[in-house]
Amino acid sequence: MLEFRRVVKHYAIGNEVVHAVDGVSLDVGAGELVALYGPSGSGKSTLLGIAAAILAPDSGEVCVNGRDITRLSSRAAADYRMRELGFIAQSIELLEGASVVTNAALKLYGMGMRVGPANRRVAMMLEAVGLGHRLKHRPHELSMGERQRVMIVRALSTEPRIVLADEPTGALDSERTVEVLELLRSVTSERGIATLLVTHDPQAVAYADRQYTLRDGALAEGAQPAVPARTAP
Ligand code: ADP
Repeated sequence: MLEFRRVVKHYAIGNEVVHAVDGVSLDVGAGELVALYGPSGSGKSTLLGIAAAILAPDSGEVCVNGRDITRLSSRAAADYRMRELGFIAQSIELLEGASVVTNAALKLYGMGMRVGPANRRVAMMLEAVGLGHRLKHRPHELSMGERQRVMIVRALSTEPRIVLADEPTGALDSERTVEVLELLRSVTSERGIATLLVTHDPQAVAYADRQYTLRDGALAEGAQPAVPARTAP
């Protein structure tokens, strides 16, 4: 479903070449959740940017359902992001003057869905992530964790085939982290989504089908989280 084939992206800074992504090959199948660990500067954002058709690689391909998305026109790339991709970013971008429901439904409005059906769809999803009592609230009335859940509902609202999640639990306490990981796990399996989860959170291991570590742009199998998992005394 989501296939990286020998993806390379280097940056030249003066005389130095930074190997941001250095020959990454990785498959994420339908219904699979793959976790990607990596220290800061290891190339995670660059890799996600390439998979989101925001950045063009120097070489290699990223195939989504057999179609290479690294060579799309800017219009086709925007359409791919709108219709096929759910991107859950670290940054929380909510409209302060709009309700939680409206904020969650923005992507559906952008796709041309009418307000009533769009709001009903996201209201059900907001309830499923514990925000049923917050539907009419404004973003400033929510905790950081609640705001991130609104962003996640927005990303999942269009029923994407591919989900790219960049530290989605970074702002959440441990209980909410588990809820979000469970949500990602269940929608991934139930809807046959290919989910690539970039995370530092050792809790994510339990929810992923496979784990990889990115170091200096190269992929290694297995999880080597920056924060070691707690060991029994
Ligand atoms: P991560 O998301 O894991 O922190 P990045 O993908 O942001 O890693 O960065 C990987 C490497 O590429 C870093 O050394 C970073 O400084 C470099 N890099 C990222 N974007 C650019 C850019 N636009 N120009 C130059 N170097 C960049």
